[in-house]
Amino acid sequence: MSRILIIEDEESIAELEKDYLELSGFEVEIETDGTRGLQRALDEEFNLYILDLMLPGTDGFEICRRIRENKDAPVLMVSARKDDIDKIRGLGLGADDYITKPFSPSELVARVKAHISRYDRLIGNSTKRNDVIEIRNLKIDKTARRVFVNGEEKNFTTKEFDLLTFLASNPNHVYTKEDLFRNIWNMESVGDIATVTVHIKKIREKIELDTSKPQYIETIWGVGYRFKI
Ligand code: CA
Repeated sequence: MSRILIIEDEESIAELEKDYLELSGFEVEIETDGTRGLQRALDEEFNLYILDLMLPGTDGFEICRRIRENKDAPVLMVSARKDDIDKIRGLGLGADDYITKPFSPSELVARVKAHISRYDRLIGNSTKRNDVIEIRNLKIDKTARRVFVNGEEKNFTTKEFDLLTFLASNPNHVYTKEDLFRNIWNMESVGDIATVTVHIKKIREKIELDTSKPQYIETIWGVGYRFKI
């Protein structure tokens, strides 16, 4: 659930905002003092901040600036005066949105939803989960370029890793040594298809329990290799 911090000294406004946001499924906290509000904003995790401008203690300008420096969540500024909003813009404090009082609660909710989903998309893209292939006791973390066998990490050279990942990403597909050489080594590379054989052998030593009976990379006699799943 998304958490929102409202820093607003007019309690009736804060409560109204809170009611509407809670009805839309948000968890809402209110602080009526600027300094306490700033402290909470910095100490806790919120998905969005709604800031009044004129507050006892620290004012909304300063709170906005401090949140921007320390937190990665949208800031929505609320003000009674249109010229305050021009001032906020002019200061370049990095608020994500501005609303002038009086505003309709449903407009506030719509803007809050839009900003939270926009941030979720941004964060979602930047903290994408690692791309992992897991087959039986073998785990290949393609993003981190790490390989684990029975939970134990094995060291792979770049080409060994690329070759294993290529095969495991295309399971049950038979590749000739020429296919693999073309895919993993660029054409200008010194070497030939014997390089593929050598690398397959090294990979098997790392991932197979018994290299004479490989359970992952199967040799298709006279053709090439296939990753079995
Ligand atoms: Ca105020």
